Amino acid sequence: MHNAAFRELDLDWIYVACEVAPGHVEAAFAGVRALGFGGLSVTIPHKAAALEAVDELTAAARAVGAVNTVVPVGDGRLRGENTDGAGFLASLADEGFDPAGRICAVLGAGGAARAVVHALAGAGAAEIVVVNRTPAHAEATAALAGAAGRVGSPADLSGADLVVNATPLGLAGSRSEELPVDPGLLGEGQLVVDLIPNPAVTPLMRAALARGAGVAGGLGMLVHQGARAFELWTGRPAPVGVMRAAAVRALE
Ligand code: NAP
Repeated sequence: MHNAAFRELDLDWIYVACEVAPGHVEAAFAGVRALGFGGLSVTIPHKAAALEAVDELTAAARAVGAVNTVVPVGDGRLRGENTDGAGFLASLADEGFDPAGRICAVLGAGGAARAVVHALAGAGAAEIVVVNRTPAHAEATAALAGAAGRVGSPADLSGADLVVNATPLGLAGSRSEELPVDPGLLGEGQLVVDLIPNPAVTPLMRAALARGAGVAGGLGMLVHQGARAFELWTGRPAPVGVMRAAAVRALE
């Protein structure tokens, strides 16, 4: 996705994967500073450790408790960002959904859910209900939305305008037919977003469609969080269509 974008804008950049063993994030970032990288993405299992290894953090990265993008800001300093929330909101905009004043339900309370809840609160959602199997995680995630956040149960889904699956249930290669929620709680007038990018149409999306709900998959968030990172690194507008096409090819 990033290499396609670099080519499209004729930038002499390259995006490569560097495997880093757990416990070695500080050392890896020292290498990034020494080698003058133009930026980097951080992924599992290093997103939390990266919080401590950067020199400064954006409010989103601090609130979510995870860094997914690192941006050099001069003098060898690295800023930790989290572009997942902005990427999620951009994917909602693609669907024509404005969360301001709406009731939103989020299934799951891990890293993705935290980014989504924080972003929905920032976008003015009226209520954000977090439904999760471990109540303590749900409490902590709902707290990110301040007064708009609360812990709920599956029954809350039927009253939501937006339902977001931020659990891995339905992910390709796992027990992939498992649904995170009873689809009988979903229906017309709702947008159901499954953050899972692969498969493109998840069991939850199929079930929600059959109940008359609107659906969207995780590709939009994946592409838009990357587009935000690209813009932070290069200072150039991201060629989002080119990035989306490359991501679709990679997931095929
Ligand atoms: P995570 O931090 O591990 O959190 C997973 C959440 O799902 C936790 O709240 C966990 O509950 C819950 N969960 C896990 N297995 C469950 C099960 N069998 N039954 C019920 N709940 C279960 O994972 P994450 O990083 O947030 O990722 C979650 C999903 O979002 C993944 O499918 C990932 O692919 C997707 N994602 C997509 C994007 C994108 O750009 N589209 C970005 C990030 C993540 P407990 O709290 O009880 O453990």
